[in-house]
Amino acid sequence: MISDPDVTALLYLVTIVCFIVALRFLSSPKHARKGNWVGGAGMLVAIGTTLLLEGIENWVLIVVGLAIGTVVGVVGARNVRMTAMPQMVAIFNGVGGGAAALVALAEWHTTLDPAGDETVSIVLSALIGSISFAGSAVAFAKLQELVSGRPIVYPAQNVVNALVVLGAAGLGIAAIAGLDGEWVLLALIGLALVFGVMFVLPIGGADMPVVISLLNAFTGLAASATGFVLDSTVLIVSGMLVGAAGTLLTLLMAKAMNRSVANVLFGAFGQVQAGVGQARTDDGRTVRATTPEDVAVQLSFARKVIVVPGYGMAVAQAQHDVRQLAEVLEERGVDVEYAIHPVAGRMPGHMNVLLAEANVPYTQLHEMDEINPEFPQTDVALVIGANDVTNPAARSDPASPIYGMPILDVDKAASIVVLKRSMRPGFAGIDNELYLDPKATMLFGDAKESVVKLISAVKAS
Ligand code: NDP
Repeated sequence: MISDPDVTALLYLVTIVCFIVALRFLSSPKHARKGNWVGGAGMLVAIGTTLLLEGIENWVLIVVGLAIGTVVGVVGARNVRMTAMPQMVAIFNGVGGGAAALVALAEWHTTLDPAGDETVSIVLSALIGSISFAGSAVAFAKLQELVSGRPIVYPAQNVVNALVVLGAAGLGIAAIAGLDGEWVLLALIGLALVFGVMFVLPIGGADMPVVISLLNAFTGLAASATGFVLDSTVLIVSGMLVGAAGTLLTLLMAKAMNRSVANVLFGAFGQVQAGVGQARTDDGRTVRATTPEDVAVQLSFARKVIVVPGYGMAVAQAQHDVRQLAEVLEERGVDVEYAIHPVAGRMPGHMNVLLAEANVPYTQLHEMDEINPEFPQTDVALVIGANDVTNPAARSDPASPIYGMPILDVDKAASIVVLKRSMRPGFAGIDNELYLDPKATMLFGDAKESVVKLISAVKAS
């Protein structure tokens, strides 16, 4: 048992330092693994210290809770397919918010003075935690395609949403002013849950990364408020770290989409266009299908190839084969680089995670701003399961739901090869003009199978 508050504070300080060092390491692929370990070690110190505090009772409940959480966490993380990673991150994030709301509810039971200082933290913890929980559950359902990934719009949605959140905030203010009773916090949580659902439903298309990062920030803030409720410095600081990191990520993602956060949240972008998935336009332009053999010749004789990975590479789990293809080409003297769009895939950093897992040297991964000037000097842009992040409509069509989003300039390469299975659209649900570009050819099929065929064809050429 730890009875000296100085020892507790010191151990919690160790945790906080671990978390900060972990964040520093996580900022580069070179040290990211180490960052995970350091963060995990910090968490272990925090949990161990908390369990050893004087006054901890209910060991049976704690052990049962720990066991359930550990089993769900370990089994979930081990079995999750890389494609389902974004959903898992969304739901884990939501669970954090839900936990904050539950702690608030439990503390509301025991708090002696409803109008005391603690009530502010309880209200914030319940409000933000519930919004984060419900919003993350909807984000999970969208990413898992249990509900449409497109924006679900209903009449006067902003007004309805404003009324619901004002109702929840009004109850919070009443609670802080001294309104007592179990129902107050329950009603607040109920309204916050409804708001969480309703504010994420209309967001879809290409705007999901922003809302996912924002929910992440909410969970951090909710955890921090819970830290005030429980008088726990370590929770306050770590919640703030998550909140700050989530806020920065939200701003970065919004910048990547070239939108303001308010615009994403209240604009209901990304409506689906009619007639998507067409292989031919009214002016008679058609897409051109190609074969692995033809692409192999193009690639083998290229000086420079830029690989543009997208969500389809994650679905096909093609990252290892992509690395092999790059190595085969490099052996032939081809310069191969990778272009990473900030919202490619289904979670921030998705492509970096996949390619790092396949041991692609991180020096070959280039962010959009860095690689875009290279496309005009590139012989082949090899687009592997990417769609929205290459769509020139973002530049040229003000009516497009992704208009204004910066894209990878693949259309500036001498030739473009697109690996996908069909003419179906990507997450934003819109056609891609790129496929009608006379420089573009389509290699239809599962990306992994296509890349494996390309490797053999390049070797044979
Ligand atoms: P897209 O969703 O635009 O396109 C992916 C393409 O991959 C599809 O058109 C699909 O075409 C193809 N595909 C799917 N499975 C396979 C397969 N097995 N083999 C080959 N191709 C396949 O992906 P992008 O990465 O270009 O863009 C990401 C989109 O997701 C953006 O709109 C972004 O805003 C959104 N988003 C991003 C998040 C993030 O944090 N990064 C979070 C949530 C949404 P086909 O079916 O014909 O094969």
